[in-house]
Order: sequence, then C-alpha cells, then structure tokens
Amino acid sequence: MTDIIQLLPDHVANQIAAGEVVQRPASVVKELLENAIDANATEIKLIIKDAGKTLVQVIDNGKGMSVTDARLSFERHATSKIQSAEDLFQLNTKGFRGEALASIAAIAHVELKTKRPEDELGTAIEIEGSKVKSQEVSVTPTGTSVAVKNLFFNIPARRNFLKSDAVELRHITDEFHRVALAHPNIAFAFYHNGSELFNLPQENYRQRVVHIFGNKTNEKLVPVEEETEVLKISGFVGKPEYSKKTRSEQFFFVNQRFIKSPYLNHAISAAFEGLLKDGYHPSYFLNLTVDPKTIDINIHPTKTEIKFDDEHTLYAILRSAVKHSLGQFNIAPVLDFEHQNSFNTPYSYKDKAGSAPTIEVDRSFNPFADDSVSTKQSPAKTNFKQTKTTSWESLYVGLESKGNNSNDNFSEVTFESDAKTESIFSDASIETSKTTFQLQQKYIVSTLKSGMLVIDQNRAHQRVLYENFLKHITIKEATSQQLLFPLQLHFTPSESNIIKDLKEDLEYTGFVFSNVTEEDITITGVPVGVPESEVSIILEQLISDVENDVPDANFSATDLLAKSMAKSLAIKNGQTLNSTEQEHLVNSLFACKEPNVSPTNRITFVTLSVDDIEKKFM
Ligand code: ADP
Ligand code: MG
Repeated sequence: MTDIIQLLPDHVANQIAAGEVVQRPASVVKELLENAIDANATEIKLIIKDAGKTLVQVIDNGKGMSVTDARLSFERHATSKIQSAEDLFQLNTKGFRGEALASIAAIAHVELKTKRPEDELGTAIEIEGSKVKSQEVSVTPTGTSVAVKNLFFNIPARRNFLKSDAVELRHITDEFHRVALAHPNIAFAFYHNGSELFNLPQENYRQRVVHIFGNKTNEKLVPVEEETEVLKISGFVGKPEYSKKTRSEQFFFVNQRFIKSPYLNHAISAAFEGLLKDGYHPSYFLNLTVDPKTIDINIHPTKTEIKFDDEHTLYAILRSAVKHSLGQFNIAPVLDFEHQNSFNTPYSYKDKAGSAPTIEVDRSFNPFADDSVSTKQSPAKTNFKQTKTTSWESLYVGLESKGNNSNDNFSEVTFESDAKTESIFSDASIETSKTTFQLQQKYIVSTLKSGMLVIDQNRAHQRVLYENFLKHITIKEATSQQLLFPLQLHFTPSESNIIKDLKEDLEYTGFVFSNVTEEDITITGVPVGVPESEVSIILEQLISDVENDVPDANFSATDLLAKSMAKSLAIKNGQTLNSTEQEHLVNSLFACKEPNVSPTNRITFVTLSVDDIEKKFM
C-alpha cells in the first residue's frame, strides 16, 4: 500500500486558514485597520461598498512597504512584527500571526498599493484567490491602500451565508467603533456607498467617545483614573441612570486592543451594585494598560480574548477604581446640576432652581398597548382596545368620550421615575389646560407662565411614538391585536430579507407573522391601534428606510424600526386636533426622555419668552 498523507498546497492551506480569520466583511475591516495602525498611520480611511460584500478598502498614511515586502506580505506566516517565539510575550503590535493578508487574498480579489516615505515610486499588486495577477511599479502616495473586492468569490457557500447588508454593516460599524475608540490619536474616516458615516479628527478620549456615541454622551461620562504598579486604568463609566438594557456600550481595551472579558465585566457590575435596576447594564469605555509580558493574546485567532497572569488583582483594582469614581460623582451635587442644565431648557427657566413638577403626565401611555400597561389609574383608557379608528385617532378616543374630565384622569396617573425630565420647568410653568390652540393645523401653541411654547405636532408625536416603540422593543413586551383574516403581502426577495432580519423586533412591537417566505409575508396580528390598511405602508416605509438609511452613530436595527414606525404613524401636518388631543400630545411629549428633539434630531418645540415678545414691541 502506498503512503497516503500529502502536504496541502499553499492556496488550500490559505483557504482553510481564511475560514478562521475571515468570517465576514467585518473581519477584513478589523485586520486591515489593525495593519494600518501597526504601520504607524495617523490618518486612516475606510471605504465600504455594499456592506463590504463588494468592497472593503483601507487607505493609510503609514510607513508603507518595499517592493519585496509588498509581495511577501501575502505569504502565510509572513510578518514583520515578531522574529522569535519570545517576541510573543512582548507584543506592542496588533498583528503578529502573519496570516491576515494571506487569508484574505485566498478568498477575494485584492489590490495593494504601497510606498515608503523614502521611495520615489511605489508598488501595485493584484492577487485573486492567492494567485498573483500583476505586480508593477506605481505612482502612489506614501502609505498603503488595500482594496478587497468580491469577498468569498470562490467560496459560494460562505458568500451565501452572509447576512443582509444592514446586518453586515452593523458588524463593520461595531468593528470600526472598537478600533477608533482604542486610538483617539489617529484620525479616521468611514464611507459607505459613497456617503460619509464618520469623520473623526485626532482628539482626546472623551471627545472620541462623544464623537462616536453622540453629543448627549458627554453628560453621561464619569471619569475613571487609577495607576498602580501592575495596572493603569483610564477612561469613563456611564452614570448609573444611563444604564442600558443592552451591552452595546461596554468597551474594555487592554493595551489599546479591544477585548471581551466576562470576568472583568463582572468587576464593573460589582462596582455598580445597588445602583442599577434589574436587567440594566452599565456603560463603560475603559483603557487598561498592563505590561505585555503579563498577558497572553495568543489564545484566539481573532484575538478578542486574552489571558491575564493575575486576574484577581486586576479585578480588585478595577472594581475599587470604578466604585471610587461613582462615589465621587454621587456626592458631588455639581454634577447633578450639570445634568439638569444639559436639557434643552427654555431659556427663561434656565437659571431658576428646580422644583417639584406639576405637569401630570402619563409616562406609560402607549397607543398600541393594551390596558395592562397603564392599568387602572386611567379609566379613560379602558375603551381604547375595542375602539376601531384610524391610528392617531385611537390615541385620543377614550379621552374624548370623557370630555373635559380628562384632566382628572391625568392627575391620577403617577409616573414611575425620571423626575428630572419633568422638573426642567419650574412650578406651574406649563399651563396647558384649555390654553392650547392649533395654528395652521401644524403647530400647537401653548402658554407658559412667562411666555409661550410652539410645538410641531408631527415631530412631537414622532418623539412620543418612538420612545414607546423603543421601550416595547427593549423590554420585549408585545401587545398585539389579532386580524380577522390573515393579511398577505408581496415583496421582492431582498425586501423580504429585510423583514426577516427585523422580524423579531417587529414582533416586540406587536406584529405577528405566520409565514415569511422569499416573496410573501403573512401577517396575523398587528400592534394595537395600527389599522390594517396602514400595515403595508408601514412595512414599505420600513424597508425603504433600511435600504436608504445612512446609519448615524447610534445605528441599530431596533432604533431604525422605532423611527420608521413613528414616522409612519405620527399625526401629520394638516390634521385638525381638538383641544383634548392637543393637551394630550403636549403632556405626552414632556413625559418623554428627550422631548426637545424628534427621533431624527430635529427640534420639536420653540419657546418665546415675554421678554422676547416685549422686545418686539419696543
Ligand atoms: P501581521 O499583521 O500579523 O503581521 P498580516 O498578514 O496582516 O500579518 O500582514 C503581513 C505583513 O504585511 C505585516 O507584518 C506588515 O509588515 C505588512 N503590512 C500589512 N499591512 C500593512 C500596511 N497597511 N502598512 C505597512 N505594512 C503592512
Ligand atoms: Mg495584520
């Protein structure tokens, strides 16, 4: 019998290795960004097409490669970053396995252009499925550009396994966040299908966090600083009241490398003990610096796990540092004060001290919820479920039947928390009762104690609906109304895919699907208050929003869904509202967490102080 063991040809070995290194376009993004950082770039551009399925390109202004290195960089186990096994214990670079470029080139079309600062001309190389197609001298700027096209072109199974563009883009965005957060001293730009998603200048860490997660993040952050012999900690934790249902704002970086560590995460949770509601998670953005000798990053090919020599000590230091910061913040009233000011307070109230709120609002009000949510407090709402009207009318229908008594009902309602939101107005500052009127069927005008308030009805209602949807999606509590006959809608396969991706979240808003195939979607239940006739419009709107959405910093599918549904269902301009409806909208708006802007960040109301008015008469 002949021998049967053979050495695998290189391109096969590379493809196998690629399976470990490259799971999806986001993996390519991570590897290329890390290479750019290792090359000491100060400016890095990420260009994506079709969520990375067509193109992932990273352009850096780093140190570039020589002609020979450019060719060698695609060989397996070719790395400039370590020379001996000992070096593994001294790592100061992101990469070290020398596998990434070889793996990527095995499963995609790759175009590399690179030039060192000391060279006049650079090198351009094209590789497809590990085969070098061309290598030539090229006029190119200093630095390196790697373009990865048609990922998995030669492994159809992997290509088909990729998720929708929305999902893949979210993975890419997550990866980008991690790298950009770890390196605030590097400028990053990120483009998707020609539009700019991020443009981050070189900045400090706080600015970087705020730039990525939005302006409102600034007030959330509590600094954490600690330096001991074994560990240096710097960064921020989120104030407890900003904790989230998801873990989307939890970042540990060890020596500027994003890592996942349930154990250290536990240390943070322990520091927050007693400060968080059940099921809420703290936000944190923490940089740990340790001696590279004391960690082992080598245990996972994608390197998000890490082994520490002395985890227990790190745990204890981390917990006490975070506790200390939170303690300082709790006893410092100045910070609380800052928090209140940060709301977009009408300026006539800005300098007044906070006082007990007097506007009575129904925070739990949700047009699509059944009575179990707001329960007995509000008898006015008991009719609501049975009543069949168009969407926005059903908001008010119960109230109307009670006519002027509606105020009594409101005043019986207690709200769960968040006194801060309400207290932005001083005592009796909003006298909404019987003092609202509608202007041009577009604005609701209301008097304030020292001026007036003009609310954009459409934007305000979008805000109210948006927060309600988000709440229901995040607490995963659906309230649904069953359709008499299942509703069948036709879509293209790509449209159906979008619905499939969002199916679970849609179910949390109250949709019930009995069947989702390539072209048909059958719906047997819809959110309470949504008329059947609107369903196809809502879903079409949602699909087009997903397709066209240029995700902002807070991009997430649930956010988009809540925004889109709020947009579809909100009271439109041109709709007449009676006084009860007007009042209710005003009250619901000010019960929101962020009453001052619509879900798409446009202002919902303006105020005019008596001073302003007086000035006009001068
Ligand atoms: P690793 O990063 O683990 O060394 P890679 O396959 O990612 O392996 O890269 C191989 C080598 O190619 C690197 O060690 C580096 O010398 C070179 N290289 C890759 N990308 C760049 C870049 N953007 N700028 C300069 N050199 C690079
Ligand atoms: Mg690398």
